[in-house]
Amino acid sequence: MTAVSSPRSVGVLALQGDFREHREMLDQLGHYSYEIRKPEQLRDLDALIIPGGESTTIARLILSNGFQDPIRDFCASGRPVWGTCAGAILLAKVVDRLDRPGIEVMDISIARNAFGRQVDSFEENLDIKGIEGGPFHAVFIRAPIITEVRPPAGAIARLADGSVVAARQGNLLATSFHPEITGDSRLHSYFLGTGISIQREPRAPLPAGAPPELLPFLDASGRLTAWPTRDKLQRAAISYLAPRFDSGQRYSEREVNTLLDRHHTFNDSALLRRVLFDWGYLDRERDGSRYWRADGPAPARETADA
Ligand code: GLN
Repeated sequence: MTAVSSPRSVGVLALQGDFREHREMLDQLGHYSYEIRKPEQLRDLDALIIPGGESTTIARLILSNGFQDPIRDFCASGRPVWGTCAGAILLAKVVDRLDRPGIEVMDISIARNAFGRQVDSFEENLDIKGIEGGPFHAVFIRAPIITEVRPPAGAIARLADGSVVAARQGNLLATSFHPEITGDSRLHSYFLGTGISIQREPRAPLPAGAPPELLPFLDASGRLTAWPTRDKLQRAAISYLAPRFDSGQRYSEREVNTLLDRHHTFNDSALLRRVLFDWGYLDRERDGSRYWRADGPAPARETADA
């Protein structure tokens, strides 16, 4: 697999379904991938994937987590958005048998579980418009069929019987199969090349000291908006927060919390404080009464003002 010259920040909606497999594929291609669980995390992404899973469950979680309008806005911003299987169902404007609205942005109609129970899954080699290098081995798992494609959407892949299984509409892509599990990364590469005229607002300047991979976790004021699940990003978050403490200064536990509260929004200063200590960024008195930067000079104890 070839590495990309310009890595993208790609979010994978991680409310339910097989988001990990998409992330592995993106990571292999050299992109940054993120599990998106809060609408704020969409802000600085270059692209978004809505994975396969159970479309009714994902639709419910999209609504209860306030994702519907933010994802619609994301689609309207021109950045690439790809729905695979359940994700394709959620992008369609018309869905047969979905009990609540999805994102409803693509001019396609889609039928859920269209191959019937007796054919839960099958595989087929597809010719996909725009994908070079031979047929694409596609895996269908309780897959939907795209029953109607209305301009400006267009079909880009069909089964031998003519059923549409992939469609594209500008920056939006829908596939009824699972391209993340076969080891063929061509569709992921194709997808990340679809954001032809990315009309997004210019990205706000990086907050001082923020590593680029942390951007989806920072708000406009540089505050951490979520605790990342990946170890590498947790490390980045903590080394971003640590310098907010002045070296040589002693902080009470409450002062540590107050300072952390200024730099994060998910209301868990206890977690951040503990990790800063566990990972050796902060030292503390045995009884936890005072904290200080572990990499700075050990501050004098305040016997003078005691
Ligand atoms: N059958 C599922 C649904 O309708 C989709 C299956 C999948 O994403 N693999 O939600």
